Amino acid sequence: MRCPKCNYEDSRVIETRSVENGGVIRRRRECPGCGNRFTTYERLERNKVLLVVKKDGRREVFDKQKVLRGMVRACEKLPVSLETLENAASSIEEELFGMGVGEVPSSLIGDMVANSLKEIDHVAYVRFASVYREFTDLQNFIEEISKLLRKEEGGKDRQ
Ligand SMILES: [Zn+2]
Repeated sequence: MRCPKCNYEDSRVIETRSVENGGVIRRRRECPGCGNRFTTYERLERNKVLLVVKKDGRREVFDKQKVLRGMVRACEKLPVSLETLENAASSIEEELFGMGVGEVPSSLIGDMVANSLKEIDHVAYVRFASVYREFTDLQNFIEEISKLLRKEEGGKDRQ
């Protein structure tokens, strides 16, 4: 790190501290040239681009809007607010970038969207799952649906 005072091209770190729950590293530095002390903050920079690997091996840049559109489509005519879906899409994005990898398989995103919709609206989940998720066989699909229905029975007093 260059000294901001004399422009000496190196500095000694005299103290390192993690702030904001580890998201930012604060360093006290000293310039060996002029003795100037200064503080730098390093923010963990997440990858700017995340590539989605499709089943056929093609890659495309991850696009949160695309995730959101899929969720909006699944929730069409259901009592789910856009805000709820936007929040869900943002958490999926955060989680994906938080993994710190450059590429993720499209199936992972599909699973995350499915899981998220399961929490939001069961009808939306089933719609999404029947289109995007590969249930290995019909039996799997039926089991999944009956699990949801049992849950619905149990949680009727919610409404
Ligand atoms: Zn200096």
